[in-house]
Amino acid sequence: MKIGCPTEIKPQEFRVGMTPDAAREAVNHGHSVVIQKGAGAGAGFTDADYEAAGATLLDTAEEIFATADMIVKVKEPQAVERKMLREGQLLFTYLHLAPDPDQTRDLLDSGCTAIAYETVTDANGGLPLLAPMSEVAGRLAPQVGAWTLQKANGGRGVLMGGVPGVAPAKVVVIGGGVVGTHAARIAAGMGADVTVLDRSLNRLKYLDDVFGNVFKNQYSTAGATAELVNTADMVIGAVLIPGAAAPKLVSRAQLSDMKPGAALVDVAIDQGGCFETSRATTHADPIYEVDGIMHYCVANMPGAVARTSTQALGNATLPFLLNLADKGWKQACDDDPHLLNGLNVHAGKLTYFAVGKALGIDV
Ligand code: NAD
Repeated sequence: MKIGCPTEIKPQEFRVGMTPDAAREAVNHGHSVVIQKGAGAGAGFTDADYEAAGATLLDTAEEIFATADMIVKVKEPQAVERKMLREGQLLFTYLHLAPDPDQTRDLLDSGCTAIAYETVTDANGGLPLLAPMSEVAGRLAPQVGAWTLQKANGGRGVLMGGVPGVAPAKVVVIGGGVVGTHAARIAAGMGADVTVLDRSLNRLKYLDDVFGNVFKNQYSTAGATAELVNTADMVIGAVLIPGAAAPKLVSRAQLSDMKPGAALVDVAIDQGGCFETSRATTHADPIYEVDGIMHYCVANMPGAVARTSTQALGNATLPFLLNLADKGWKQACDDDPHLLNGLNVHAGKLTYFAVGKALGIDV
C-alpha cells in the first residue's frame, strides 16, 4: 500500500501523523511511504530523517493526496484537504465529527473511508488513541501550573516542592482518570502535597492500591471539593463525563474563598471546562485572571510538547496503521472489532451511530 503523510495545516498544530520510525516500520512491512517535505519540522524530525527511514519526500499536499492509498494525519482534514480526498481512499486521523457537520458532509461526498482515532477502542473499554494525549496533558498540567504560580505571572509565588522548613504547594486534582492520575504523579514528584478527588469508588481504590501514600485521594462531593479548593495553591480540573459537557465544579462565587494568586489549570476545557470562570485560551496567551485567581485553560495542551506528543501518538497508532496497510481496511476491521469501532465514514455513508445521532444523519 502507498501511505501518505501531509504537513498539518490547522493553526498552532506542530505534530505530524507519522514519525520517521513509523515510516521505517511501514517500509519494512513492504509498503511505500510518501511524506510532504517539512512535515516533521514542528516535531523536530528532518526530511533527512524520513529519507533515511526509506520514505519518499514530495513537495506538496496535492501530490500526497493524489498518490496515496491511505492518508495518515493528526488533526481532522481542513476544508482544502477534504477537497483532495477521493473515492476509495483511506483516511486515518482524529476526526471529532459529532460537532462538525461541514466536515462530515465533505467526507461523505468524497467517497473516502475514514477511521477516527478517537473512537477506536481497546479490550478494557478505553480509548487507546486518545489516552496518549491525556497522558501528555496530565503530565504537563503541574508544569504549566507551577509556572502560573510564579509571581511574575500573577501567581501566589509558591514553589511546588517548598524548601526545607517551608511547606510545599497544596495541589488538588479533580478527576482521577488518565489526565488526573498523570497530573497527580508529576505534582507529587515535584514535591507538592497532592489530593485527588473522584466520583468513582473503583477508581479511588485503584489509585490507593497503586499509588499508596504518593498522593491522597478523596471521594468527590461539593463539600469536599470546596474545602480542598479553599486551601489549595493549585487546582487541576481533569473530569470527564463521556459524551457530555464537563460539570462546573468550582463556581465564580467560590473564587473569593480561595487563596489570592492560586492557579486553576482546567484541562477539561476541551469539554467546556469544569470551573465556571474557564474560557479556552491558546499557547500564545495561555493565562488570565478572574477575582484574583489565575486561570490556565489551553484547549490543545499536547501541542506545547509537539515532539513528545507526536512520538506518543505514533506509538499508539502504529499497530493499527500497519494492520490497515497490511490487510486493507476491510479485512483489518473484520479481524479487529476495536478498529472497526473507529470506522466513521465509508463510501458516502456514515457508519458511527453517535455521530449520526448528533447530526441527524441516517447511519
Ligand atoms: P478519564 O475518563 O480517564 O477520567 C475522567 C475522570 O473524571 C473519571 O475517573 C471520572 O470518574 C471522573 N469524574 C467524573 N465526574 C467527576 C466529578 N464530578 N468529580 C470528580 N471526578 C469526576 O478522562 P481523561 O482522559 O482523564 O480526560 C479528562 C479531561 O481532559 C477530558 O475532558 C479530556 O477531554 C480532557 N483533555 C484535555 C486536553 C487538553 O489539551 N486540554 C488533552 C487531553 C484530555
